[in-house]
Amino acid sequence: MLCVMLLETGYGLRGRICVVLKCNTCNNVYLGQSGRSINIRHKEYIRYIRTNNPLSAYALHILQNGHEYGTIADTLLLLKTCQKGTRMNCWEALYMQVFHQHKMLITEQQISEPNPVYELVNTTRILPRNP
Ligand SMILES: [Zn+2]
Repeated sequence: MLCVMLLETGYGLRGRICVVLKCNTCNNVYLGQSGRSINIRHKEYIRYIRTNNPLSAYALHILQNGHEYGTIADTLLLLKTCQKGTRMNCWEALYMQVFHQHKMLITEQQISEPNPVYELVNTTRILPRNP
């Protein structure tokens, strides 16, 4: 419900959204961005899994490990809405690094070189309480 409200009041439909998808078995997360609504994006991930199509790291994680996914309410969390481009890419890279540092990323999604600037961010303010 929170995710939908943020999308409707923000400019997510014209911009980009940064989302977290949680694995319901190991509780690790996949981080991604999309220009479509979270409902459509969630349906795409579920379709990839149901058709055994490992197009995304999240689907690959669920399929390879036999882990469980859930409904949009207990699996998906909207982190940020933003204009498409450099700003959203920076937010995504920051979130990716923070989740990686907290060992919360699924193993199928890993980051490249950590950015020392992102290490200065107070992560308690940007980490979701229950991804
Ligand atoms: Zn898992």
